[in-house]
Amino acid sequence: MVEKVAIIKKHLRPKGQGQKGQIVEKERPIDVSNVELICPKCSKKTRVSYVFSKDNTKKRVCKKCNKEI
Ligand SMILES: [Zn+2]
Repeated sequence: MVEKVAIIKKHLRPKGQGQKGQIVEKERPIDVSNVELICPKCSKKTRVSYVFSKDNTKKRVCKKCNKEI
């Protein structure tokens, strides 16, 4: 069996009685949150997480050092 790299297989559960579960092939979407990033604060490869500050603004925060980027 040859797997296509850009294709992911997703097993779907049956939605109701009498229905079969199915496997769908889907092109893998590019997940922006998985893009590697070098944190300017700690200079490490990191990922960004989003947090809401007290005034309800969204901040990007380094997952390694928790500083705002
Ligand atoms: Zn950092």
